[in-house]
Amino acid sequence: VDAQEYPVQSVEADDIHLPHRQLDAHKGDFGKVYILGGSVGYTGAPALAARAAVRTGTGLVNLGLPAPVWPIVAAKLDEPMPHPLPAGKDGQLSLEAGEAALAQISSCGICLLGPGLGRSNSTAAVVRHLLQEIRLPVVLDADGINALEGHIDVLDARQGLHTVLTPHDGEFARLGGDLSDGDRLRAARTFAMEHTCCLVLKGHRTITAFPDGSAYINTTGNPGMAKGGSGDVLSGIILSLLGQGFPARQAVPMAVWLHGAAGDVCAQEIGEYGMTPSDLIDALPAVIRKHV
Ligand code: AMP
Ligand code: MG
Repeated sequence: VDAQEYPVQSVEADDIHLPHRQLDAHKGDFGKVYILGGSVGYTGAPALAARAAVRTGTGLVNLGLPAPVWPIVAAKLDEPMPHPLPAGKDGQLSLEAGEAALAQISSCGICLLGPGLGRSNSTAAVVRHLLQEIRLPVVLDADGINALEGHIDVLDARQGLHTVLTPHDGEFARLGGDLSDGDRLRAARTFAMEHTCCLVLKGHRTITAFPDGSAYINTTGNPGMAKGGSGDVLSGIILSLLGQGFPARQAVPMAVWLHGAAGDVCAQEIGEYGMTPSDLIDALPAVIRKHV
């Protein structure tokens, strides 16, 4: 990929704009989203993504959870609507969960697959089945991404349907991404173009790359965000903005910027050591308000 031919844009505070809400708006105007996540041992991740989506302005947030963890995640959340799905003895989704989730997802505008889902064979099979069947935009994170290891053809078959992937370096490597020469921009761009997806390569200065070769470098965020759960908050923000109808080219770099800006507020007020992913969610409303 020729870097000259495809310039990269840095995303700054001036680039972030959210519209005022119409006086007569109702919840149906702000997206109905679905999050498939959770497993025994990972009950926080889907809750973080769901709360982040609510705090970013989504009208209605639905969650699909393996039945054994459903009461635990449901008890954490007031605004989102949690639904139990069939699970096996390991506490992860069983194959029948695919059809149940599909029915629920089809009444939503967009879904996020992955936060805390776990990596059992049946869970990964459910994720791939959904990717093949869902004719809606999909955000894939964490174990949703891991389900594509050795099955990248499932991603390629979604050509033309919007798919956003948000890997950290380890997940990117499992997808077959190549970071060997240290050129993260080239790696993200090459992947997005080859697989016709939006690729968010997370880390310090997160890169968002699109299938046409365009790419964005983020300027917010700090090492206080290097904690389990930060990525789940990001996927919830991306899901929310896409669900509210922002085009991907606007929604995704803007979500990455807002997530990092919330992190920078927390670093200032709480400090990089003690700030948590939940603090990011709490900091979001004030950050967003400055850009409306
Ligand atoms: P995950 O690894 O999935 O929990 O995602 C971590 C999130 O925190 C990503 O959005 C990263 O970009 C962000 N993050 C982690 N470490 C840093 C850092 N040193 N500087 C800026 N952002 C970071
Ligand atoms: Mg993660």
